[in-house]
Formats: sequence, C-alpha cells, structure tokens
Amino acid sequence: MERYSFSAAAGPLPASVAATVAEACRDWQGGGSILGLSFVSDRFKALQEETGNALRQLLAVPKDFHILFLSGGASAQFAALPLNLMAGKVATYIDSGHWSRRARDEAARYGPVQTLPLAALANYADPECLTRDAYWHVTSNETANGLQLRDFPALPVPLAADMTSDFLTRPIDFKRLALVYAGTQKSIGVPGLTVVIVRDELLGRAAPTTPRVLNYTTQAAAHCRVNTPPVFAIFVLHTMLDWIATRGGIAAMAAATRRRSAAVYQAVDNNLHLRATITPILRSHTNPCFSLANSDNAPHFLGAAQAAGLDDLNGHPEVGGIRVSLYNGLPEAAVTALTAFLHAYAPPDIRQ
Ligand code: PMP
Repeated sequence: MERYSFSAAAGPLPASVAATVAEACRDWQGGGSILGLSFVSDRFKALQEETGNALRQLLAVPKDFHILFLSGGASAQFAALPLNLMAGKVATYIDSGHWSRRARDEAARYGPVQTLPLAALANYADPECLTRDAYWHVTSNETANGLQLRDFPALPVPLAADMTSDFLTRPIDFKRLALVYAGTQKSIGVPGLTVVIVRDELLGRAAPTTPRVLNYTTQAAAHCRVNTPPVFAIFVLHTMLDWIATRGGIAAMAAATRRRSAAVYQAVDNNLHLRATITPILRSHTNPCFSLANSDNAPHFLGAAQAAGLDDLNGHPEVGGIRVSLYNGLPEAAVTALTAFLHAYAPPDIRQ
C-alpha cells in the first residue's frame, strides 16, 4: 500500500524533483556533489542568479523589488521585519490566528505594535495610519487554523505578508504587497531557505542594531552572501521552480490547489460525521481544517486514516481536530485516496 503524508510542517517533493536532487547529491553536472558546492564558487553564484531570475519570472516580480535568499526560517523574519522597517513608528498586525500572533509577539519585542481583527482589512478606514504606522502585517494563510486571505487591501502604508504556507500556490499582487516572505519547506522545497521579496524603497531603514544577516539592505548589497547561504535548499528551489514552470507556472499551481481543496471540502461537507471549521470564504486552499461531529471520534478517524495509508492528518496542537495539507509537491494519487477515505468515513458507533 502506498503511504502519503499530509503534514503541514513540510511538503513532499514531486518524484521527478526528488530524483534530480538525489542525482545532484551524487554529482551535479560533472562537477561533484551539490552537497559540497562552495558558496563563493562561480557555479553557485550562477545557480543563485538563475534561481532568482526564475522566481522573478514565475511570480512576475516587478523590477523595483529585490529577491533575497536568507536563512533562519519565517521565524527569523518575524524579527527582521520590525528591525528593518519600524524606524521608530508603530507596526500594525492583523490577528488572523496562530501565526499572525507569533509574528506580532516577536515584533513587539522591538517596538510598539497595534493588533487589529481580520475585519479591519475589509473595513479599512484609519486616516491616522499614514503618519503613525511603519507597516501593516498579514499572514496570507494561517497554517494552524486553515484560514486564508483571498485578497489584500490597497493601503497607504507598506503591507507585508507571511506567505510561508501558500507561497507559489497563488499569484501575488505586488501593487498591494510591499514585502512578502516565506520559508521554502512546504510548497517549494526543503527547510533552510527563506525567500524575502521586498520593494526597493523599503531598504535603508533598518535599526542600527539589526544583525547583519537579517538586514535586508546589507544582504541585498552583498547578493545575500553576508554569510554562507543555504546552498542545498537553493538548489532544491531551483529544481522546484523548473518543475512549476514546465507544469504551467503559478496559474497551474493555483488551479490545482483550488481543485484539490474543493474536492476535500466537498467530501467533508457531504459527510455528516465531519465539520469544516472555517467559513467558506476564508477556507484555506492549502490547509483545509475540519473536526469530527463528535470530537471523541478524532483518534478513531486518525487511526482509520493511518490504516488506509494516510498519515499526519492531526490538527495543530493548539487547534486540535483534523488538518489536510495540499502543498504543490503532493501527488495526485494522495488527494484521490484521501477524498475517497473522507467520503466513506464513518465513526465506530454506527458501523456494523
Ligand atoms: N509562518 C507560517 C504561516 C508558518 O506556517 C510557519 C511554520 N509552520 C512559520 C511562519 C514558521 O516557520 P519556520 O519554522 O520556518 O520559522
């Protein structure tokens, strides 16, 4: 029996990407293993430049944005953002769930933050924000809660988005978003690399105490080689970007993600033993969450899923329930097996 992981923490690589990466670990283009590639070599510099160009093309990143390849995960960006952008002003964080609070709490260590509810995005009307706020922050997809923002408001101040769990699964409107950051371990590669895409005009504002490795301006000037970059993770991203491009680019990823999540939600909505937890207009396309009509049956559900080869469906510890993760690299057969399971699932009390 095939086994599939629906883990939210990390996504699988497509089989062809995994094969290319495995071969490169043995030998990459006759120059030895990618694992030993020096970050000061011309080969790495070319790889890094190509990867940046491919990403710029796929996402239609405008010329006045820098693409940075950094380390430290999205969590390091929770600190980097206020350090680079606050400049003595207030930062406003939209509270949409677990990860937006994590970002806000880290920012609050460096300066004044204001927290607003999700509704503030739709009913935005705050003339004072222009003079008071350095930036606003949103989490485009709440991985733990299964909630996703469909679009972003046009604000008079820079809007930054944590897109760790939906990066490269949807197009990005860079007229509305001035800064985007994402760890690569879910939909576009392996852990170790964090992509930051930042409008040039936001550079040059960092607090003097900002660690140099977290300083966007310093990193941009040094081509992201202030210290050793995550060479292997950049190689995997490069391979993933190739895979995405040959499959039709971001539009194809977005269509597949919407189609797959619609199939999961439909199976959940049609099964009276299951309950989707998020209102339809905010349901995540990458991390559908639901619960058992009788929550006592969650362990039975997870056990039955495992027996069917479907692993890592447990919800985030803070939220509970069930969570499915539909990142780019998940094979189609996994979604087919899962939706069949969801349609057929019945708890033990009514089984004969
Ligand atoms: N933001 C979001 C939306 C996430 O899902 C995660 C990880 N699950 C993080 C931030 C933190 O990422 P990292 O562990 O790579 O710092």
